[in-house]
Formats: sequence, structure tokens, C-alpha cells
Amino acid sequence: MIVTLISVEYGRITATARGCLKPKAKLRYSAEPFNFGEYVLQGSGGRYVITECNQIEAFSAVTADIEKYYAACMILESLERLTKEPQPLLLSRSLSALSDLAYGDKEADCVITSFLKDVISLNGLSLDFAHCNVCKCDLEEDAYFSDRDGIVCRHCKAMTDIPIDSMTRAYLSGAADEVPHALRQKANILLSNLVYQMLGVRIGAHYFTESI
Ligand SMILES: [Zn+2]
Repeated sequence: MIVTLISVEYGRITATARGCLKPKAKLRYSAEPFNFGEYVLQGSGGRYVITECNQIEAFSAVTADIEKYYAACMILESLERLTKEPQPLLLSRSLSALSDLAYGDKEADCVITSFLKDVISLNGLSLDFAHCNVCKCDLEEDAYFSDRDGIVCRHCKAMTDIPIDSMTRAYLSGAADEVPHALRQKANILLSNLVYQMLGVRIGAHYFTESI
């Protein structure tokens, strides 16, 4: 089996796991989707074979709940797509999001909201959903996302800016926590669209269509 590994030191690596499908195989954990562990590889020039794998954490509890499972898959997808060069902070943030899904009591879509906000801020593009980034006014109603200025009010927006309705904005600013699933989902679709606008990487297309 060909597996994609994301490592702290080397970023994204492709490696072959041999005989991992046999139930008693030494490497049976090495090709499981959420496996976090210490891998030993042999090879060079982009051709590697996994020779050892010591599992640290499997996050297997995420497979007991379909919402959590889809959310966990979305985190892996984001990690894979956004790791070209090594991204130790993103990897560490992804592990804590998987841990929240597996062992925490937060709703899966809330975990995704804070994960996507962190993906944006890890790339140095922190967005403040409570204030206009141009005139600094307190945002109370709708807001807009501007490529150039971040989150802005209706007075500071340009024609092509992406609108953010007041409910979604309040949830993303942290002012409203107890909101319905559909609104959180809508906010997550917006965040994934902002990731695409800012980083040019589309994530979560599968996650959003499956969950809706
Ligand atoms: Zn403004």
C-alpha cells in the first residue's frame, strides 16, 4: 500500500507499507488513516519503504461517530494539502483537533471552526470578526471579507468583497456560541472559502457535501 505521511521534520512524504493488510503484520498500524507514531523509513530520492512503526496515538474513537469521522477526515485532508514544506505548527494543531474530536465533548463542527480559523492565522493572516480592519469600528451587523484588508464593515467594503451575514460573523467572532448546526456549517464553508482566497488551496469540498 502507498501511504502519505506528514512529518514534523520532512513535511509530506510518500512511502510504501508492505504486508500491512495482514491482521498480524508488524506494520498493520502504519497505513491506518489517523495513525500518529514514530516511523522508520528506508530508501532515498523520494522512494521509501516503511520498516518500522511505533504507534503513539490512533484517535480510533473518531470512527464511532459519523460527524466526527468526517471532520477528522477533513483535518487530514487539510494537513495533506497545506503541507508542501514542513509545517510543524499545522501538524501540532491538527493533532490537537483530532484529539478534541476523539476525546473532547465539543461538537464536530465547532472543532472544525476553530481549526480553520487557526489554519488562517498560522499563515499570518489572522482575521478579526469583531472589528473593521480599516476604520476599526465595532462590527455589529453584516461584514465583508476583503482580499486586501481582511474583515471590513459595510462603509469600508469594495464591490467585489465577500459578504458575511451578521449571525455568521457573530459566531466567528466568538460572541455567539450556542448556534444551530446549519449556521456553524455555513460559517465553516465560508472559512474554507477564505482559506482558498488567501492560500489558493481548496479544502473540505468532500466534507461539506457529505455532511449536508
Ligand atoms: Zn470600516
